[in-house]
Amino acid sequence: MKCRKCSQKAVLNMRQHKLALCREHYLEWFPQQAQRFIEKYRMFGPQDRVLVAVSGGKDSLALWDVLSRLGYQAEGLYIGLGIDGGLQYSSTSHRMAAHFADSRGLPLHTVDVQGLEGATIPVAASLTHRGRSKPCSVCGLSKRHIMNKAALDGGFDVLATGHNLDDEAAVLFGNTLNWSVGYLARQGPVLEAGDGLVRKVKPFCRLYERETAAYTLLRGIEYIYDECPYATGATSIYHKELLNQMEAERPGAKLSFYLSFLRAKEAGFFAAAQDREAILLHACSSCGQPTSAPGQCAYCRTWSQVRERVDLALTPSQ
Ligand code: SF4
Ligand code: ZN
Repeated sequence: MKCRKCSQKAVLNMRQHKLALCREHYLEWFPQQAQRFIEKYRMFGPQDRVLVAVSGGKDSLALWDVLSRLGYQAEGLYIGLGIDGGLQYSSTSHRMAAHFADSRGLPLHTVDVQGLEGATIPVAASLTHRGRSKPCSVCGLSKRHIMNKAALDGGFDVLATGHNLDDEAAVLFGNTLNWSVGYLARQGPVLEAGDGLVRKVKPFCRLYERETAAYTLLRGIEYIYDECPYATGATSIYHKELLNQMEAERPGAKLSFYLSFLRAKEAGFFAAAQDREAILLHACSSCGQPTSAPGQCAYCRTWSQVRERVDLALTPSQ
């Protein structure tokens, strides 16, 4: 297979785009695509300060690399979840993120959940009913809260995450199967800022996981290969596998599924749900971040429960 642009040997054949490219042209093409989506969805401009949520994985590091190459003011945020055990997942992912930042002289902000709230994510999950079997629920709400706060406190204009098309199509698939209209209303390349909420963007939302993986490899970016140990058996992985089967039969199926959804949304399919969501939101009585729960937000409620239980465990019995 030859490169479409120069006839050298192609390193990647993208059947869905009917496009094969050599190393040099692929490394040109990939950031151009990201730039195209940043402009198309009006994500941010050169004057904006962008906080990139980095997990140490391939997508987030590729995103930080691309935004820096494109000349954006992009700083990184790493959240230490305290998920270690045999795989040393958190320590390794932190090392990867720090190594990337140091090698390029880019600023990396780090928030350690245990340092902030007094317990790691697995400990917090074991102490609350939210996550006895898996910590993903506590983890997800904590990451969302911390990312939003870090972006607002740091005066950033926008928070960027490395979600790729495979991630977005899998989430969309799950939300559609359940007709989770509220979640569907919120999904998209851009989530606008609101009271207490920073603007969130996903510049890779139209790039396949295979494409971000190839970019990371060809750029020589070191990243953590292992998934979080708690990701095993996640429904989203099952949905990704189903979508991969469809994609193998019909190249472009994932992209068409996602783009058709965006068009439906644009046409107002979820407008009523969007309005309802906005009405339900009010400021949390403790932290001020928006929530639809009465009183405190789920983050504040969960962590105050965790602190109480940690204190109880530390109090010597009479
Ligand atoms: Fe957190 Fe791991 Fe679950 Fe992802 S898979 S939400 S990182 S605990
Ligand atoms: Zn709160």
